[in-house]
Amino acid sequence: MARREARPRAERERVLRPLRRCCPDCGRRMPIRYENRRTVAALDGPVRLRLKVRRCETAGCARHHRPYRPEAEGVIALPQHEFGLDVIASTGALRYREHRSVPEIHRSLRERGVAVCERTVTNLLDRYDELVATVVDEPRRAALAVQGRAVLAIDGLQPDVGHEVLWVVRDCLSGQVLLARPLLSAAAADLAGLLREVTAAIGVPVAGVVSDGQHSVRLAVGQALPGMPHQLCQFHYLREAGLPIFEADRHAKK
Ligand SMILES: [Zn+2]
Repeated sequence: MARREARPRAERERVLRPLRRCCPDCGRRMPIRYENRRTVAALDGPVRLRLKVRRCETAGCARHHRPYRPEAEGVIALPQHEFGLDVIASTGALRYREHRSVPEIHRSLRERGVAVCERTVTNLLDRYDELVATVVDEPRRAALAVQGRAVLAIDGLQPDVGHEVLWVVRDCLSGQVLLARPLLSAAAADLAGLLREVTAAIGVPVAGVVSDGQHSVRLAVGQALPGMPHQLCQFHYLREAGLPIFEADRHAKK
């Protein structure tokens, strides 16, 4: 179907590098080998992503030449999605928490600078419904079994309506969402419950966790996955700072 509105030019650029430097399979260093670019319509305007992609180059490794993309990519936008995950979370919160109509949601998104037509709002609601209905089904389990392990990322998306947070648990190796659930609380026990639910369903060991390191998430990881390597990505704090151009990994720490 023809696009009715021109995609606005992204004035902002974000360069993202994977936090993980070593291959999750063989443990050898994965060099950055190429860059992917994509533009995402986020809640704070269009942003151009420059994604540095690592690759294992150890002959004989099960992940030989398999790409490892920046962990933060998946919290900005789902694979192949033009709109940011924050836009989808906001759309869902406006509809189900605030009981807004599609025209009202359309107006709200337009006011925030998201170039969206009314019909697209319906598509965004479909994406939200699909997202929160995600379960670790047989195809997901089969894909995880092939890669033999998962690197989990847990992120809370809080659109600025109400206090609901959409918690998303992803696998960084495949880029797949494994669970997405709106919660009114961000208590460590609730988040630990989400992590336990995922780890029980995936059928493969967890090789590590990535998060923005907020206190309740740290506690939850400690409760659900004691002793698990936990990498912190301060992507969220940087987004709040509103810097036009930055490299998220400069501020990342182990
Ligand atoms: Zn390897």
